Amino acid sequence: MKPVYVDNNATTKVDPEVLEEMLPYFSEMYGNPSSMHSFGGEVGRKIREARERVATLINASPEEIVFTSCGTESDNTAIMAAVNTTPFKKHVITTRVEHPAIKNMAEYLGKNGYRVTFVPVDGKGRLDLDYLYQSLSDDTAIVSIMWANNETGVIFPVEEISRVLHERGIPFHTDAVQAAGKLPIDVQKIRADMLSLSGHKIHAPKGVGILYVRKGTRFSPYMIGGHQESGKRGGTENTASIIGMGKACELAGKHLEEESTVVAKLRDRLESEILKSVPSTIVNGERENRLPGTTNISFEYIEGESILLMLNELGICASSGSACTSGSLEPSHVLRAMGVPYTAAHGSIRFSLSRYNTDAEIDFIIEKIPPIISRLRDLSPFWNQAEVIDNEEVNAR
Ligand code: PLP
Repeated sequence: MKPVYVDNNATTKVDPEVLEEMLPYFSEMYGNPSSMHSFGGEVGRKIREARERVATLINASPEEIVFTSCGTESDNTAIMAAVNTTPFKKHVITTRVEHPAIKNMAEYLGKNGYRVTFVPVDGKGRLDLDYLYQSLSDDTAIVSIMWANNETGVIFPVEEISRVLHERGIPFHTDAVQAAGKLPIDVQKIRADMLSLSGHKIHAPKGVGILYVRKGTRFSPYMIGGHQESGKRGGTENTASIIGMGKACELAGKHLEEESTVVAKLRDRLESEILKSVPSTIVNGERENRLPGTTNISFEYIEGESILLMLNELGICASSGSACTSGSLEPSHVLRAMGVPYTAAHGSIRFSLSRYNTDAEIDFIIEKIPPIISRLRDLSPFWNQAEVIDNEEVNAR
């Protein structure tokens, strides 16, 4: 059974053109790009091309692109570079809804002598900008704020934030892992000092990431080793994946328009049909200002895990907003930060689409969801006593 894959914020399919470009670098083109001989030099030339392609996607210079092993490494590197190069500053600012790559790093710093501010969000997942601006101080080493949230798709006003921070002379990093390929990214416009990307979210393979480091930004490597990446990241290059990342960035630029129109249309149809056909469903996050392919929907009074299992039996791959920790289902930190009530947070499902999804797949999900939800609600002791909400009214707020 071919899966109906709507879990693209978790990972994406490698584009066949990306794979084709990578293949020779696993076999006949195995030289080390740092070698003096032309066999390795040819691989070095391909890496330079990849660097240029990445730079073009985000309007950077190739020298500002550092290849890493993943989005997590890029995020960790950005934070550590800022704190290590300004050891006299002991304050870090981020948000309550970051990916663990930032959240857990910030918590680690909090346990190791740093004061960490986690900026809250409102019920729609929008950032409290006043709180952010009031938290800034001369002691702030770095502000790291994601461009778009991986669970809800809500987009943060990074351009405005960056402008304020620039005026204050405070370094700004943004995790653009979910924004890439879905929204235009122009580092000249947003003026971030550092920005993270991940290959496997944009149809490149897993195990490759990017850290953009603006020229002149204080930097120290996180991976200390050889002279690779102009001394910014030691370690022999993951050549095939880097070459794949370059191709994926080129394709991401080409498909940007399609992502923001065709994919958004599929998502909107999926969402509105579910809201029409299933009572007591709530969209989590601001609907107007979201990534084009993401919808996070709460089906009240049932467990997301049960929905996922039933979807899985039909070959539908999605994600839930709760995770099984120590035997109990805990709603995600993102939904908790938004104050989503437990009855809704437990039953949240994230559908995340890509350019590979089709109308027929969306029809299939729209057909299968209502009977799954009513079967599960028939088994729920809470559902029978629950007050059914008016979807139209609740989701219009
Ligand atoms: N940041 C965000 C917003 C993400 O969604 C992810 C992955 O889900 C990451 C960082 C981590 O990227 P990677 O899986 O490449 O380490």
